[in-house]
Amino acid sequence: MKAAAGNTSEGHTYQVLLFYKYVDVANPEELAAYIRSLATRLSLTGRVIVAHEGINGTLEGTTEHTEKFVAQFFTDVRFSDVQIKRSTGTGKSFPSLRVKVRKEIVGTGFSEEEANPRVRTAPRISPEELRAWYEDQRDFVVVDMRNAYEFASGHFKNAVEPGISASRHLPLKVGKLEPLKDKTIVTVCTGGVRCEKMAAYLMHKGFKNVRQLDGGIHTYMEKYPGRDFLGTLYTFDQRLTMHFGGTREVVGKCHLCGVASEAYADCAEATCHLHFIACENCRDAEGRAYCSQECKTAFV
Ligand SMILES: [Zn+2]
Ligand SMILES: [Zn+2]
Repeated sequence: MKAAAGNTSEGHTYQVLLFYKYVDVANPEELAAYIRSLATRLSLTGRVIVAHEGINGTLEGTTEHTEKFVAQFFTDVRFSDVQIKRSTGTGKSFPSLRVKVRKEIVGTGFSEEEANPRVRTAPRISPEELRAWYEDQRDFVVVDMRNAYEFASGHFKNAVEPGISASRHLPLKVGKLEPLKDKTIVTVCTGGVRCEKMAAYLMHKGFKNVRQLDGGIHTYMEKYPGRDFLGTLYTFDQRLTMHFGGTREVVGKCHLCGVASEAYADCAEATCHLHFIACENCRDAEGRAYCSQECKTAFV
């Protein structure tokens, strides 16, 4: 088992786990209670969502405790084959532990007829195979199923970005993907949980040749740091972005002045809170940034 070397703080190394699985969960409340008690006992922080359709989580703790969690989690036969993605933690990537029961493990709003990965989803493509496709310059299109602000700081070469601001907005953007209906499409997202459902939806919409990247961008970057995926990987925790070594160019651009930057900010105007990239020069002395002139003047 390969564990990411964590930062040290008070002699501990920290690790972040990312995992999901679409699988029938008869009693989500019971599973949530079990995960909550296990994670609490190991002093883990992070977020886990449980639903009838499966589990989706990201947890941080000391390397020792996170590995204990994985060992225990794997004893449940439903989860013994879950792919665990590991990355370096800081010990403070999450403010607390939240384990919630929801209708879906990713909020798409799709009905089970539209997208049910437990019944049907796109075949996977391994990172090795996708690397070979890039090498052979095969005719394929990577469709990035993440939000536009995630795409902004890093993405695959020549990837198509539908421009979604949340998974549930995909139906509004499918029109943009319509010209790709007969093409070979590879859907990608951070760890795979979103593309598994989004790919199922595209198949439902008549897209003929859809594949999904196994293990997501996370696994690809671990295997091929600095290759094909340009920039840095956005994370939904206080680290904000991560990468796995290799040479890399900064592809993110300040939303305000256009210079190369990977520094995310939330618009300081309380009613806006747009998440965007803002370089140091475009922030005030306190490090705050406003996404627009409109938001800036609304503040005073
Ligand atoms: Zn700027
Ligand atoms: Zn704003």
